[in-house]
Amino acid sequence: SVFFGPVSLEDREESPEPSPSSLSPYDRGNGIVHGIEGAIGNTPLIKIRSLSEATGCTILAKAEFLNGAGGSPKDRVALNMIQVAEEQGLLTPGRGDTIYEGTVGSTGISLAVLARARGYKAHICMPDDMAIEKSDLLHHLGATVERVPVAPITDPGHFVNLARTRAKDHTAAADTPSRGFFADQFESLANYTAHMKTTGPEIYAQTGNGRLDAFVAGAGTGGTITGVAKYLKEERELGAALRVVLADPQGSGLYNKIRHGVMYSATEREGTRRRTQVDTMVEGIGITRITENFEVGRELIDDAVKVTDDQACRMARWLVEHDGIFVGSSSAVNCVAAVVTALKMPRESRVVTILCDSGTRHLSKFWKHITAMGLEDETQEQDEDLLAVLG
Ligand code: PMP
Repeated sequence: SVFFGPVSLEDREESPEPSPSSLSPYDRGNGIVHGIEGAIGNTPLIKIRSLSEATGCTILAKAEFLNGAGGSPKDRVALNMIQVAEEQGLLTPGRGDTIYEGTVGSTGISLAVLARARGYKAHICMPDDMAIEKSDLLHHLGATVERVPVAPITDPGHFVNLARTRAKDHTAAADTPSRGFFADQFESLANYTAHMKTTGPEIYAQTGNGRLDAFVAGAGTGGTITGVAKYLKEERELGAALRVVLADPQGSGLYNKIRHGVMYSATEREGTRRRTQVDTMVEGIGITRITENFEVGRELIDDAVKVTDDQACRMARWLVEHDGIFVGSSSAVNCVAAVVTALKMPRESRVVTILCDSGTRHLSKFWKHITAMGLEDETQEQDEDLLAVLG
């Protein structure tokens, strides 16, 4: 059936009981799942009625916030990174190993959950301007959290560099047999391969064997967009029949990279160096450098759409008002870009995008800002016109 993805019920009934360590996210066994890992993947593909009606296309959104471990697509990535590390002997349960990661939050939350479930400690380094809900949650999950000032990637204090150093220092400490493992979601290819193995096949199956015309997603590490694009365009040979579109928030360099081949003009580069970060309130997508997980599938990305914070806020409110869908900022960016893409395509095209995480993880920042925008005061007419809403 559609919900359970590519594995049919018959197949699953006949398969031997899988061991927890070999459990892949879309091989759930006979109805009972083995630990929290079994709640990862097989997320629904939701037809968003209001956006479909407004565009004349079918807008489908993969509800990744329903991943049952950490509530985002990063569950798939964290599980794959841990499984690969275990296979390579870099992580061994019971040895007192610690997983270190630099993250804006989602990956850290998924790693912290899985660390608890599999007998590791987690140490998370994150920028101090991310919504406080995320670090609070990490504390409750038992992770050690270091919130560090925003710094350029060339600075040893940048959250990613700090996590790498902490892992190295842990392993080097002579008085312990335990190891520090740097998960490295930006550069580790276990990131995009998680999406090649699970997200891509699920989308293929859920659309009735690849009946989709466009896939739209933002990039934080690039793992989602490149993993899904590689699976659909290369393994399933959809090729040019599928349009892959990057959704990029204001301030990110990826839009320029896709459209014009360079990330920033000289002046913009200076500005970025001063700001040291993507200048947006959107969390999780938009980057100022090219990562391995982006590079590996960059050639498969056909186009890019730039989305302003204002549009993202308006879309988030539109979705909750018309569809009862309450999401965070990166999901809203994806939906704006999905609408822009749909409007350039023939009517009745099928456009797939990603709902990354829930709005509950963004109450103190993104949703507070939306409230402050005072959109409730707009007239009924303004409220019902999607194009006007998005400017
Ligand atoms: N949305 C959120 C909330 C995220 O945390 C991330 C990952 N940083 C993304 C989207 C982007 O996914 P990816 O890293 O696969 O590009």
